[in-house]
Parts: sequence; structure tokens; C-alpha cells
Amino acid sequence: MSTMIFAQAAKTVPKLCRKAVSPLMSQQSYKSSKSDAVPMANLEPDTVLPYKKLYENLECIRDRLDHPLTLSEKILYSHLEDPYEQEIERGKSYLLLRPDRVSMQDATAQMAMMQFISSGLSKVAVPSTIHCDHLIEAQTSGELDLQRAIENNKEVYDFLQSSSAMYGLGFWKPGSGIIHQILLENYAFPGLLMIGTDSHIPNAGGLGGVCVGVGGADAVDVMAGMPWELKCPNIIGVHLTGKISGWTSPKDVILKVAEILTVKGGTGAIIEYHGEGCESISCTGMATICNMGAEIGATTSVFPFNERMVKYLCATGRGAIAEEAKKYEEMLIPDEGCKYDKVINIDLDKLEPLVNGPYTPDLAHPISKLGENSEKNGYPMNIKVALIGSCTNSSYEDLGRCASIAQDAIDHGLTTQIPFNVTPGSEQIRATIERDGILDVLQKFGGTVLANACGPCIGQWDRKDVKKGEKNTIVTSYNRNFTGRNDANPATHCFVTSPEMVTALAIVGCLSFNPLKDELTDSKGKKFKLKEPKADELPSNGFDPGEDTYTAPPKGKRSKVTVNPKSKRLQLLQPFEKWDGKDFTDLTVLIKVKGKCTTDHISAAGPWLKYRGHLDNISNNMFIGAVNAENNEMNKVKNQRSNDWGTVPDVARDYKANKIKWVAVGEENYGEGSSREHAALEPRHLGGVAIIVKSFARIHETNLKKQGLLALTFSNASDYDKIQPNSKLSLLNLAKLTPGEPVECEIKTGGSSEKIKLNHSFNAEQIEWFKAGSALNRMKETLSKLK
Ligand code: SF4
Repeated sequence: MSTMIFAQAAKTVPKLCRKAVSPLMSQQSYKSSKSDAVPMANLEPDTVLPYKKLYENLECIRDRLDHPLTLSEKILYSHLEDPYEQEIERGKSYLLLRPDRVSMQDATAQMAMMQFISSGLSKVAVPSTIHCDHLIEAQTSGELDLQRAIENNKEVYDFLQSSSAMYGLGFWKPGSGIIHQILLENYAFPGLLMIGTDSHIPNAGGLGGVCVGVGGADAVDVMAGMPWELKCPNIIGVHLTGKISGWTSPKDVILKVAEILTVKGGTGAIIEYHGEGCESISCTGMATICNMGAEIGATTSVFPFNERMVKYLCATGRGAIAEEAKKYEEMLIPDEGCKYDKVINIDLDKLEPLVNGPYTPDLAHPISKLGENSEKNGYPMNIKVALIGSCTNSSYEDLGRCASIAQDAIDHGLTTQIPFNVTPGSEQIRATIERDGILDVLQKFGGTVLANACGPCIGQWDRKDVKKGEKNTIVTSYNRNFTGRNDANPATHCFVTSPEMVTALAIVGCLSFNPLKDELTDSKGKKFKLKEPKADELPSNGFDPGEDTYTAPPKGKRSKVTVNPKSKRLQLLQPFEKWDGKDFTDLTVLIKVKGKCTTDHISAAGPWLKYRGHLDNISNNMFIGAVNAENNEMNKVKNQRSNDWGTVPDVARDYKANKIKWVAVGEENYGEGSSREHAALEPRHLGGVAIIVKSFARIHETNLKKQGLLALTFSNASDYDKIQPNSKLSLLNLAKLTPGEPVECEIKTGGSSEKIKLNHSFNAEQIEWFKAGSALNRMKETLSKLK
């Protein structure tokens, strides 16, 4: 287990204090701390590091549990609402937690802020920020694309900025960068518990925090000062030995873990990295690994506090936080002898660069086998576009290593063979790589620098080089490669890999190239092999912050937030109806989905992102990407009332208008992928009452419950086959809905009927959400009782 790297400093940890304190009741609690306390972030001088309180809570937990703790347990349990009484059993109990911070990106923040507004509260109770990164479409170049986005999204940006000012949130304007890079640069610290409305919030685990992607309703709970509920996760240990070197990069660690665990393997678990191999990975590299843990369904991923984190904190102007963390080191690393539910061993010395895909991030090809496997499987061998950056891989080190490969190619008279797009992770990264000449090299290589934003990673890509339906290959350093994710073309074969490998492949433009072995021919006809990539981990001249892109919440009078009732992009929310106390009988099946059904299939991104603040308008994309088991087609279902075929949203609207309640049926890991709660809000808005599947992805299951839908799983997975398009389903004895007890379901098809059991994971409080019509309704009931 980890050694005590800061043994001297650790002795200064305050003496054990038996009185536990709930760590973060409100922003006010920070202000009451000692005057010499260390600010939690440079931008928030009045919020201080909570280590002392967390330490006191942890001591209470140690007394109770009396066994060595993993790092994940230490961070989670020290943030418990009630460390004295909270029932703690991994994989079983529901923890009530007090996160330190909430963060939201612009696509999800719109609905989260709509929900916060409808709570009637006047100010957020914990430090919170909004980041404008998802709505910027890549078309020509960073500057022009940003300008166009500011004009096209003005109404939404104005709403987010004014609601940030009104309710006390920090606001990062368009062009500031991608949420996860900014969180790492400014807000993350070892021991942090953060939630955020984006599935890659775990990125900040690279700086030793437990950071979890959630739906907007969870964010609203925490911003409203309520505790946050999380099923106590299992802990999967990944033991790293050896050293990262040469062409192998941190990305290969997570690509390997994805191969081992598959897209479902992390469900319900935190992935905790440990072992001496961690020391060979930079802080931003550890963030890359944690970021993509979302692709295996993990609750989050985390690394233990180490020297690489100290270096990064110092480089980003937070040396005082590093010093304070050293004093509490014992709290920020796992205990000797702690128990993991499962352990995976990876020897970094033997790790070969991997390229994963297409269509799923767990299909790993070692670079030495990529060409052969691609030929065998009929993947298009020629690469059409190469893309580096995104929140996963856009650090100074990443882009510097890519530039070293690009420079090597330039020195031999070569450049990229194909379009090569570069997304800097933040304005700070962009300005620093510009100052240090890295940007110049990437541009000389043939690269186009896109805006500091998500762009093609979230389908914000006005791609012109292939027609929709045309089979083609792209390689990216992104994290996600589900069908149609980047360009809405289901025939695009997207492979995810390290930015270094993307850059090398761009020089040849073919999947068969292996830069570790293959020679290239330079402009004079001479053979050469690319040098191994090399770059500084951090800028030796410090970071250049670039343009100021942050607006702190104003201290004085705050302006009002208004939403135009005629707006096509924003719509104030109406509360969902309460459950009427009756069983759901003879429910119609809107769609029985076949195969993979991610949140992108339920609520597509790309052009639909612009409607994220308008529930009724965005509901026109509901299930349009899901395959109907009846006809193997997308967005075509039979209207059981009229017998006509129609689009899924149209048929759902017809059912709603005719007061016909409906269910949707799905297969395994339903709702995997992004955290977007629109995938739960839309079915609820259009009259759905239950989603019945073989299994759920964690965030989506919670999102469904939060919006008052019944999230149910077949006790027997093969019962999926018993449901036909014309079946009528009744969910019985709902008044007796009890944690751990299955729900009885009667299926009537034609003249026959059969009863099956459906499982659920509702706890007592979540059952109240269902009864109240949504978690937000329930919160309002609770708050009005407290007044
Ligand atoms: Fe943006 Fe892509 Fe990162 Fe999501 S995964 S935050 S869309 S860059």
C-alpha cells in the first residue's frame, strides 16, 4: 500500500476530536473558520479548505468501523451528514452526504437552474459554478466558431449568467474552456467531494477528489442545502506497478481497464488506483484516467495524494492547498491493509498503446494488432479525420507530446495527411501553448485549432467531408465513441486512443500504421522512425491565464432572471403531477428498445443541444436514436390507438393527449453514457410512467426516480421477450411499494395474460419522490414544512 510520502508533515494532524461535525452545511460555515484558514480555491477567498472538519468526522467513522479504510471510503465517509448514525455497508446502504461543491456545464445547467428557480430558494448553499462549453459548434476555427456561438446562444448564455448572479454561482463564459479542465485548474483538491451535472466530473479524481456525475435534480438538492444521497459504492482497486514510458500514455491505462471491466464493469463502484505505478503518472494524466472511468459505468475514480498532485497544485497557484493537504496526508491515501471488492493488476512497463473502438470504448486493439483486426472486421482503413483534445486529453503535457511528434514529422518534411483538429481544454492551456510555441507547431503540422470547448466531442461539429450514411473512420483522443456521437452519422467508425497515437496516425492516415515499429519515408525518400513523444509535464515559465473569462457572483444587489414565455430555447418548469395512489393498469408499450440504449439514443445531443432549456421542444427528440425491436428501425413505432406508424415523440404526444399512460422497455445497461437528465424528463413530460429494462446505468436510474418515474428491472431477464408491441402491462400493489420487494406486473397480450416480477432499487425516501410526483416536488414539500 502507499507509503507515507509526507511522514514529517503528517505528524501535525490535529489531535483526535470525538465530536463529529457535518462538514459543509452552507457557505456561511466556511466563513466562520479561523482567519488563517486556507481558501478552497483562488477564486473563492471566503470559502476555506474543510480538512479539519473532515478529519474529525473520519475519526468518528474509524471508531465505528474499526478496520483499515480505502481512500474512497475516507473521502466519502468524512463527508457524511451524520457520521455517528449513518448505516454503512458497501453496495447496500444509502449514504447521505454533504458535497463541498457543485459544478454544471451549460447544456445541463439550463434545466438544473430551471429546477432550482422552481424550488423558490434565493441563494445556493454550497459553492457552485456554471461552465459554458457544450454549445459551441466547430465549423471553421476557434475564434469564428466562438463568435457565432455567442450570437446564436445569446439568450441561453444571458439566462445562465443572470441566474448565476441572482443565485450566487460563479460563471465561466463561453471560450473559458471545458468544465473538467477548469475544475482541475481551479477548484479540485485532494479529499474533495464534488458533484456535477456531467458524466465526466470524475476527471478531478486525478487531483485526489471523489467527484461524481449526477443529474440536475441531485445538483439542485445540494445547492438547496439538502444532503446528497448515494448508494454506498463498492470499491474496485486498480494496482499499478512499473512505469509509464515511451509511446504508452495514461490514456492506455483506462483503455486497458475498459477492456478488462467492459462498459458495465464499474457499475456501482469507485475505481481506486494505487501502487507505486501512480508515481509515474502526471496529475493531468491521472485526471485522464479518472475522466474515462465514466465509460465503464463507474461511480467515479480516484488517485491517492502524491507528489505529482503537489506539483500541479503549485503550478496552478495553489501551493497553500498543497501544504495543507500534506498535513492531512493520512486522510488522503488508503490505509495499509484496506480491502477492495476486486483488484485489477496492471504492469505499466508491459502496457502497449491501445486504440479502442469502433462504437464502444471497451473494444481494445493493441496498436500492433490494430491494422490486422481492422482488416478482419472490415473497418474502413483510411482515416478521414484526426481529433485531439477534449476534457479527456487537453493538458499542457498532452499537447506538448503531440507537438513533439508533429515537429519530428515536420523535420522530415511531413505533415498530417488528413484534417487534424485540436481542442485546447481551457483558455489557460490555449494561451500557454501559444506562448510556448506548441500551438504554432501543431498549426504548421496542418492542425486547425478549435474553440476551447467540447465541439466535435459532443456532436457540435458541422462536418462536411462525408455524407451521412457514408462508412468512414475517425480517430480521437476523446472518451466516448457511441454510434453517431461525434457527427450524427451512424456509419462513422470512431476509435478512441491517446492524443499521441492520434497524431502519429494522422501522419499516415491509415489504421495499419504502428509508430512503434513502422518506418516512414521522409520528403527526401529516406526511411525513418518517429521518435518517442516527449514534453514537459508543466510549463517551466508557469501558466499564462489568457483572457479573463470568469465572473464571480456579485456581492451587492442582484438582477432578476426573466424567461420570455415565447422563447423556443427556455421554458420555466411546471411541476409534474403527484401520483394518484392507484395502480397503473393496462399501460401501453410506447417502444420496446432493442440493443444498446444510451442517453444519446433516448435524448440525442448535437443539434438538439440548443433546446436543453426547453422541455417541451427537446422532447421532440425522445427515443429517436433507439432501435425499435418490432421493426429494427429507429424512430418508427406503431401507434396502438390508431394502428398508424409514427415517430416516437409524435406517438407519445398522441398518447398523452388521449390520457394513455405508457411504458418503455429496454435491455442491458439502459441509459449508459452521459448524465443528461433530459433522458428522464422527456419520458415523464410526454406521459411515461415506468421504464422496464434488464439493467440500468447508475446515473440514469437515479434520474428516472428523481423525475417520478418507476425504474424497474426484470427479475428474470428473459421476461423481456414476453412483452410484445401490443401488450398491455399493469403494475400492481403500488401502494405497498417497499424497498427490496419486487413489483408485480401483469402482461396481457391478445387473449392471454401472465404475471412476472420486476425488481427496483427504490429506498424509502425515493418511494416518497415517486409518490410526490418528483424529487423536486418532495423537496418543496419538505422545505415548506421547515418554514
Ligand atoms: Fe465536453 Fe466531451 Fe468532455 Fe463531455 S466528454 S465535457 S462533451 S469534452
